[in-house]
Amino acid sequence: MASQLHSEILNPENERAGVAAVGSAESKDALFKARSSATEKVIRRTDRDYSQHLRRGYQFAFLLMNVWLGGQFYLWVRHYETAGASAYVSRPAGVEGWLPIAGMMNFKYFLLTGRVPEVHPAAMFLLVTFVAMSFLFRKAFCSWLCPVGTISEYLGKVGKKVFGRNFHLARWVDIPLRGLKYLLLGFFVWAVSSMSAQAITGFMQSPYGIVADVKMLNFFRFIGTTGLIVLGGLLAASLLVQNFWCRYLCPYGALLGLASVFSPFRIRRNEAACIDCAKCAKACPSALPVDKLLTIKSAECTGCLECLAVCPSDGALQLALPRLIPAPQRMPTWVFAAGVAVMFFGIVGFAKAAGYWKSDVPLAVYQQLVPHANEASHPMPGDPALTE
Ligand code: SF4
Ligand code: SF4
Repeated sequence: MASQLHSEILNPENERAGVAAVGSAESKDALFKARSSATEKVIRRTDRDYSQHLRRGYQFAFLLMNVWLGGQFYLWVRHYETAGASAYVSRPAGVEGWLPIAGMMNFKYFLLTGRVPEVHPAAMFLLVTFVAMSFLFRKAFCSWLCPVGTISEYLGKVGKKVFGRNFHLARWVDIPLRGLKYLLLGFFVWAVSSMSAQAITGFMQSPYGIVADVKMLNFFRFIGTTGLIVLGGLLAASLLVQNFWCRYLCPYGALLGLASVFSPFRIRRNEAACIDCAKCAKACPSALPVDKLLTIKSAECTGCLECLAVCPSDGALQLALPRLIPAPQRMPTWVFAAGVAVMFFGIVGFAKAAGYWKSDVPLAVYQQLVPHANEASHPMPGDPALTE
């Protein structure tokens, strides 16, 4: 915001002074002075960056919302498990955000039939919300909303405190590993694309489909030794390597990354104002060479805006729209944050207001299936449930 910008213009000085001082206590000042030639004025940025406060607010609000959803869902499950001895609470449909494959299947069903599915419709609306969000606001879901992303980010910070740094895998390991999440995504897309509308309905209305969310909860409630070892390994890896899960393994992030390539919002670097301090590249959780590129188009950019927050030079880094779009080129970060919120509440609000949010499953069916959720097995190809 222009009103929040209080910049100072530094006097032009000798270029060599800045080069010599890189890495010293005076390096920042010297770099500014060095880049300030007679024809080019470098302006020190002195505005207070609020993007990371906003982002943390979103992250913790979303994390709390998920804890609340998980708690209410647990109480709902307990009501059926105790045959009504524990109090009834309504089923929070928002837990279906944890069923992205069901969301993909339901979206395909919607495309094929034009009808909103009866079981786990919220899974579809949430998937559509986050994909649409990525088309506009890069992978903002990953860095502003996703609770797994938040936990992963803070584990990385803890690791940095404990070990003094986060580790970066060598390029020859990093690049193939990054491909893993696309392979996982490819598998799920292939599995869903091979299903007809009839097969999707059969799957969703099978005992397994109806209680897929209960099975996921039970996985964590009654986690076995293998599950614990895998979870422990992921936690340890996240302490050492920033955003380990998101960077290498999350197929949801892979999908959103592909959508984000079309996002009009880009981080753009202005070479004339850049002092080559590399603070942006150092701060980037996705390890992107922000200080070397002019525009960040990578599918790995999560739109976290950390690079903008640390950049000391006014106008060196901008959250910008393409030059073809007739709009202010430099977008304030609150526009980005507001857009994310409007998109989330807009689509979820529409689904709720239109009566599409909740699964249309009779309570008697839940009463019968929830206590025996662990016995429900995955319908396999050729299963009559998928063809009848
Ligand atoms: S380029 Fe900037 S916005 Fe993108 S991931 Fe890196 S720090 Fe975040
Ligand atoms: S764009 Fe990056 S390298 Fe250039 S001044 Fe800003 S933080 Fe430093």
